[in-house]
Amino acid sequence: MAIQTIIEPFKIKTIEPLRMTTRAERLGILERAGYNLFGVRAEDVLIDLLTDSGTSAMSARQWAGVLDGDESYAGARSFYRFERVVKELTGFRHIIPTHQGRAAEKILFAIMGGAGKTIPNNSHFDTTRANIEVSGAEAVDLPVKEALTPSLVQDFKGNMDITALERLLKQKGREQVPLVMMTVTNNACAGQPVSMGCIRRVSELCRSYRIPFFIDACRFAENAWFIKTREPGCKGRSVRQLAQEMFSYADGCTMSGKKDGLVNIGGFLALNDDGMAQMARNILIVTEGFPTYGGLAGRDLEAFAQGLEEVLDEDYLRYRIRSVAYVVEKLDHLGVPVFKPAGGHAVYLDAAAFLPHLAVEAFPGQALACALYLEGGIRSCEIGSVMFGRRDPASGVFQPAAMELVRLAIPRRVYTQSHMDYVVECIGGLYARRESVRGVRILQEPPLLRHFTALFEPH
Ligand SMILES: *Cc1c(COP(=O)(O)O)cnc(C)c1O
Repeated sequence: MAIQTIIEPFKIKTIEPLRMTTRAERLGILERAGYNLFGVRAEDVLIDLLTDSGTSAMSARQWAGVLDGDESYAGARSFYRFERVVKELTGFRHIIPTHQGRAAEKILFAIMGGAGKTIPNNSHFDTTRANIEVSGAEAVDLPVKEALTPSLVQDFKGNMDITALERLLKQKGREQVPLVMMTVTNNACAGQPVSMGCIRRVSELCRSYRIPFFIDACRFAENAWFIKTREPGCKGRSVRQLAQEMFSYADGCTMSGKKDGLVNIGGFLALNDDGMAQMARNILIVTEGFPTYGGLAGRDLEAFAQGLEEVLDEDYLRYRIRSVAYVVEKLDHLGVPVFKPAGGHAVYLDAAAFLPHLAVEAFPGQALACALYLEGGIRSCEIGSVMFGRRDPASGVFQPAAMELVRLAIPRRVYTQSHMDYVVECIGGLYARRESVRGVRILQEPPLLRHFTALFEPH
């Protein structure tokens, strides 16, 4: 019989010790951080699942690239390698390196956004939404309805609601919709994948309206793996071919290398339109740097190029997607309400169902994230009404997020199966005592992206 166990397809060459803390220490740390885990020092965290962004372990080849990076101001060899790798992958004409994904977004929406414009997406991530809103435009989410039911098992819950998009385009036209975006995988919807069929149909619709279509490509490889394993007719094709097909439907993309680039910093904007690329490079020079390095050092470009090759390794992707599903299956077995099916980069707890005794105004996601830190030194991230909830400026009425989730993002190639077993045990223990978890209230909040810096207290 074929061997069933899926292993990490790498071995460990360098280690970083973890520091244990006591529950009493963690309580003090939490109080000093204003019950916001972004305010906790990393050395006070045992298992850091705050984000999968920029937290990947680099390979020996990537580190070799760091030493080999060409730091020339203009025309560095490392840029040309990076450009070749990205062009081969995406097929786009212009490759513009930025220091991370949001810098690419900032440039894109400075060109395409502005007052009176509407930019739809399956679901905008927080920095995408913020950059659109800063430009004066409106960011609209059009996820499929299935995305909003955490317990519903379906293959492509990250898809966009195409009927809703059609309605929006008919109503506003290309005068008001400067571009349509698609986020793969759908981070704000539990890392759920988008099907090739959906990408193709959205692309066709955009072309019929002559509206540019852009992909937010942060997790393109994880998305392509889901397409390969779930979409009819795709099993026999390589992940690289499927990724190339995804990009072929678009006019450009933004990408954070801190996700599927397997690097700790880096991003890019890629597009086909020559005029737009010219405008983008003009902004790049003012805000990031010269076009052959953007916001990055030559060594970063070298590691990024290598990471984009390694992330398409199918043994890596099989392990990667399986390691997330493993945690979801174990939690589900314990009865813990968890978003299903497992997404690509993270496990999402359904905090509203986990803590049914808490009203949305008591921020069950934030409360659960804090409780998990207290329980086992595990750092997670609220993706609920702290991140997406609003108070209507006119009426003062609280508008909660569509879901109250806690995201346990799994850094790439960092933690082992026993680390994940520990996480499952902590969550299971907390679930057994869930009535004891108290809500939180906001003490202080900034006007934008409040989840990063708001201060809370138990309620
Ligand atoms: C991380 C992320 C971004 C922003 O990228 P940064 O590198 O963090 O600036 C944009 N979109 C999605 C879907 C992301 O996950």
